[in-house]
Amino acid sequence: MTTDTDKFAPWPTEVDEVTADKLARSYTVMGWQGWTRWTATRGKDQSEADKNLREMCLHIAIDCFAVADVLRNVQIYAKDHADEIAKDVYAALDEGGAVGELLYDFLRSYGIDPAEDEWREEAVNSCVTCDLPEDEWPPFDLLFAVGSSKCPDCKRVDLNEQATRQNAER
Ligand SMILES: [Zn+2]
Repeated sequence: MTTDTDKFAPWPTEVDEVTADKLARSYTVMGWQGWTRWTATRGKDQSEADKNLREMCLHIAIDCFAVADVLRNVQIYAKDHADEIAKDVYAALDEGGAVGELLYDFLRSYGIDPAEDEWREEAVNSCVTCDLPEDEWPPFDLLFAVGSSKCPDCKRVDLNEQATRQNAER
């Protein structure tokens, strides 16, 4: 956790302190951090490591948004159970190993076999520019397109290229 998160939305230290509102607030702040870091470096020349970090910031923004959005809706549509649901999520996150176990159970509940060999195969395309596997491209991104050669992030850099060049000429 960084200072901004501590300042605006301290992450609960005990499960008893957890409410849906607190978790939604924390995820919103974390998501915004990821988003602002991603937008601040948009279109700039970057090393491969910087690019990977940017990708990560975008993913954090998207994932945190999704969790915050669900929690906010739970507060509206399942008010009486909202805090209980949030405590459940917190407890699973707190106990690291639970995440893998729960994902395993969830998969089985969808009729998907977690032990299938295909999970270990690299059968996905990668972005020609940054090498990010297609299955890790942010699906909520407006520039997401299955079967395209570049991930949304790299396509966005292309779109910004002209603007960047103009800036450099000044
Ligand atoms: Zn890319």
